[in-house]
Formats: sequence, structure tokens, C-alpha cells
Amino acid sequence: MDLSLGPEDEAFRAEVRRFFDENLSEDLREAGRKTGGVFADFAAGLRWHKVLAKRGWSAPTWPREYGGTGWTATQRYIFARESTAVDAPRIFTMGIRMVGPVIMKYGTPEQKAKYLPGIVSGDMVFCQGYSEPGSGSDLASLKTRAVRDGDDYVINGTKIWTTGAHVANRMFCLVRTSTEGKPQDGISFVLIDSMDRPGLTVKPIVTLAGDHEVNQVFFDNVRTPVANRIGPENAGWTVAKYLLEFERGGDAYTPNLHARLEDVRRIAREEVADGSGRLAEEPGFAQRLAEADLAIQALEMIELQVLSDLSKGRNPGAVSSQMKIRGSETAQAVDHLGVEALAWYAAPFEPEARLLGHNAPTVAPDYGLTAMPLYLNNRAATIYAGSNEIQRNIIAKAVLGL
Ligand SMILES: Cc1cc2nc3c(=O)[nH]c(=O)nc-3n(C[C@H](O)[C@H](O)[C@H](O)COP(=O)(O)OP(=O)(O)OC[C@H]3O[C@@H](n4cnc5c(N)ncnc54)[C@H](O)[C@@H]3O)c2cc1C
Repeated sequence: MDLSLGPEDEAFRAEVRRFFDENLSEDLREAGRKTGGVFADFAAGLRWHKVLAKRGWSAPTWPREYGGTGWTATQRYIFARESTAVDAPRIFTMGIRMVGPVIMKYGTPEQKAKYLPGIVSGDMVFCQGYSEPGSGSDLASLKTRAVRDGDDYVINGTKIWTTGAHVANRMFCLVRTSTEGKPQDGISFVLIDSMDRPGLTVKPIVTLAGDHEVNQVFFDNVRTPVANRIGPENAGWTVAKYLLEFERGGDAYTPNLHARLEDVRRIAREEVADGSGRLAEEPGFAQRLAEADLAIQALEMIELQVLSDLSKGRNPGAVSSQMKIRGSETAQAVDHLGVEALAWYAAPFEPEARLLGHNAPTVAPDYGLTAMPLYLNNRAATIYAGSNEIQRNIIAKAVLGL
């Protein structure tokens, strides 16, 4: 797609490329290349976050007054495209992408001063404690209880599927502060300032691809100050919904999709089609690559519109649900092509090959090491951030008026 960049945007792109040339070290690129899930190796991602923070580029979507870049929608998109093109590690961004915008909107001046600089610098790493066993799509039924005791809430219950709880040092979570009235009306949004609080336990859940990304978190009389509540007591549902719009629409899908499709093209250029020529030249496969490319370009048009709205302070609304559906389903289609292109070389289970610095021989070719892990990991993309069925329900109500 021709972004038709003006001279200023061309200059910005050149500046970004120069910065990557000078600052994105080979080991960080390796972490980017070997990513088999949503985020790169955590330590590598954090190192890259700190490099970006030093340059003032760690919060591309934030306004300058809070330490963000203040970039236009086009600049943000250029940055995202250039990042994926050079295998910059995907950073664990729940702070920047989710709780940061919430604190900007609903936080007190003290809360903004306490948290926003730490999120920008990478010193405060948040995970998201929304889902519970039995409360995923029906999130308002959540049961983790917070009871006031002096200046603290005392929390009991459990959260599940908590991505990165084992590497984060903070958590934002939804807790039940009242059982009166509608379930939505008894929820509060609180921050927990340390994952080492007494009574808080993190237990790993290892995924199908063999990776440890998600966890179950248990609360046994965990205390957090009432001052850590964002927004009024029992108004957490409004805060939570605001955050979900950013979770579903605030991130750029298509730069990553372009990069993933490029990886599949590379596999298809290397692999042979039924012993006759390269797979990339086989008409049936070439057509499917072209179809995936078109789907990504169509999504890119919507995405640029959403990014432009966001930069003008307009929330994406139900369009973020459309983006979530199309983005996740297109990613799964691209993953499928990658596995198909590699055929049996996709099958060997070689998680050690994705460890940074690993240089022993592998069964799968180096360009195919992440195809199967991405395929398996990404099965979850149509479930997390609100399942695609739930997104369709939102569109049915908010857009179609059904
Ligand atoms: C890899 C991964 C990472 C995650 N990370 C986090 C995280 O960091 N923090 C966090 O809080 N949560 C996280 N989640 C949880 C995620 O948000 C939930 O899994 C999701 O909301 C679905 O909830 P559930 O698993 O309870 O499934 P359920 O809600 O039980 O749904 C089961 C099935 O029923 C369908 N369904 C349910 N209700 C309806 C309906 N009304 N209409 C039509 N179909 C319906 C669903 O679409 C789904 O197919 C993560 C999940 C995964 C898989």
C-alpha cells in the first residue's frame, strides 16, 4: 500500500531507520526474530523499552505532557512498520497500551505523577487481572472480593490467564467491592504495587506451544491501599470498558501482519513445491499469498482511520471490535500458510532453538523456527481481549442495532 508520505513523514522515516541502525543490536533483533508468541523474550523486550525510553520513543500513542511522543497517526504507523521490518522485539506493553490511558483519563494528579513516568521508563511493568475461572466473556460476574480495612482493601480470590504475571512487577485488576444491585455496579478498578505482596501467588500455565506466558494468580488477604483505586468505588466497570477499547483497537495490527506475511513469503521462496519449482511460484499457493496480502491491505485502511481518530482524541468504539475480528482471523490465516509451506519441517518440537544465543543445528530451517509456535500460540488470538463471538455481539448491538 502506498502511504503517500509527505516530505516531513519521509524525513521522519529516515530518522527512525537511522535510529534502528544505530541502536537495535543484533541480539535484540534475534529476540525479535525468535518470537513465537505475542511478546518477545521479556528481558530483551525490557532492554529495548529502555533504549526507546532514552530516546523519548517508548510511548508512541501518548501525548507529550505525559512523556509520550505526541506523534501523528502517520508517524506512529511508520514507526510500527519500521519496527516490525527490522525485527525489533515486541515489548510487553500493558502499561503503555492499557492502564496508562486509563490513568490519564480517570487518575488523580497524584496517581498520574506516581505511575505514568514509571510506565514510560519501563520501570513499572503491569499485568492485567480481569479474567477469573468462570468469568471471562461474562466478566461482570467476577468474584474476587475486596473489602475495606482502614486505608486498605483486603483482596481474596483468583485471576486466570494473566499474561506476564510472572515477569510484571505490578497489576491492575477488577475486584468486587459490592454485591448489591447489578453485578456491573459493584466492581472497582485497583492497582497492586508489587507482585511480591504477602498472600499473592503466581502459578504458571504452560501453553500448547510449550511457552510460559500466562498464569493463574491467587489472592489470600492481599492488601492494597484504597488510594490505589482508579476512579470512584463501584465505578470500575466504566473504567474497565474504556480500557478494553484500547486493548482491542489501540494497537497496530497490520505492521505485524505485513512482517508475518513476509516471513511466509520467505519460506515459500525457499521451499520446493512437490518437487517442481519453488512453492512461491506454484499458482495455487501464490494466489493464497495474494489473498492474504489483500486482506491485510484492506485491514490497513481501517486501521489508519482508527489511528487517525485516536490521534484526534476520538475513541475507536465498535470499530475496534471489527479490527479485532479481522486482525486475529487474518493472522491465523497467515500462520496457517506458514505451517503449510514448511510441511513436515513445521512439526519438530524444538523450543530450545528459540532461546537467545542458541546456535546448535536444528531440524527445522532457521527461517521456519517460529512458524509452528506462532500457529499454536495464535489460536488464542480469537479468544483473548474478548472472544470474537463477543466482538460480533458488540457489533450486532452497537453498529447494527439488533
Ligand atoms: C493466551 C491468553 C491470554 C490471556 N491474557 C489475559 C490477561 O492478561 N488478562 C486477563 O484478564 N485475561 C486474559 N485472558 C482471558 C481472556 O480474556 C478470556 O479467555 C476470554 O475473555 C474468554 O473467556 P473464557 O476463557 O472464560 O471463555 P468463556 O467466556 O467461557 O467462553 C467460552 C466460549 O463461549 C463463547 N461465548 C461466551 N459467551 C458468549 C455469548 N454471550 N455469545 C456467544 N458466544 C459466547 C466464547 O466466545 C467462547 O468461544 C487471556 C486468554 C488467553 C487464551
